[in-house]
Amino acid sequence: MIDLHCDTIMKIWEGKQEQGLRSNSFQIDLEKLRKGGSLAQVFACFVHKTEGVSSYETFMSMYKVFLDQIKKNSDLIEQVRTPHRGGSKLQAVLSIEEGDVLEGKIERAAEVASYGVRLIALTWNFENAIGFPNSQDPDLMSRGLKSFGCELIPEMERLGIVVDVSHLSEGGFWNVARLSKKPFVASHSDCRALCNHQRNLTDDQIRAVAESGGVVGLNFCSGFLSEGSHQTRIEDLVRHAIRLYSVGGKSVLALGTDYDGIGSDLELPDISYMPVLRDALSKAGMSQSVLDAMWDDNALRVLG
Ligand SMILES: [Zn+2]
Repeated sequence: MIDLHCDTIMKIWEGKQEQGLRSNSFQIDLEKLRKGGSLAQVFACFVHKTEGVSSYETFMSMYKVFLDQIKKNSDLIEQVRTPHRGGSKLQAVLSIEEGDVLEGKIERAAEVASYGVRLIALTWNFENAIGFPNSQDPDLMSRGLKSFGCELIPEMERLGIVVDVSHLSEGGFWNVARLSKKPFVASHSDCRALCNHQRNLTDDQIRAVAESGGVVGLNFCSGFLSEGSHQTRIEDLVRHAIRLYSVGGKSVLALGTDYDGIGSDLELPDISYMPVLRDALSKAGMSQSVLDAMWDDNALRVLG
């Protein structure tokens, strides 16, 4: 299994490493990853953009925690740029959630690439130098990438950093679809047709991601699965996975749990329960080859 998004590093960073990656009370740790059948986990450095605080400094502080945790647990996990089959350890891939970390400086993309960052979510829920966030405000939602954002897409692609459109405005999304020459992803988003939340993708957007060769990671946040819901139900995850498949095809399927970033009451309490979801999808009629694509083949293709 490859999960394209979690906020576990932020939780460890917030707690000043009182709880580490090996074993903790969070939704992801190394024991739970093993039990859940993990091949690779994408760990986001999620930076909450704050007035008067440098997003870059926050990222660097979080990145140091990530490195520290990988080093402390080097018997079980290693950082990789490109996940691969056949390794003996769990594989950790680094990503950034909030393009404000670049602070409008194009050379920062090469710097974070040198740290092994493989995906950057261009925005979180705030405007930044790249563009605008998803929003219920139709004006904000329709706004496109800024000139720095347009300059950044080819630079990210040159450096092998995957463009992540989760959290981005619709206007920005369509700019990415037009400008990108490589696959782009929505690392953790669900289907707007099934749940009318601005963080979810319309069918047209799902098709555009698929046409780029990218993937959409199924998000476990209850509010994205069912309007106003506080409970993440397996049946809702199944509905969204089937919709993604029917709209975008087999090659668009992936996982983006958002574990340790969501406050939902979960039927699958942590990442060790992923085989339960796989069983439910299989019972709902998904073939083993489609499930293999969703579980890791597609993510391996995009990150490769
Ligand atoms: Zn997010």
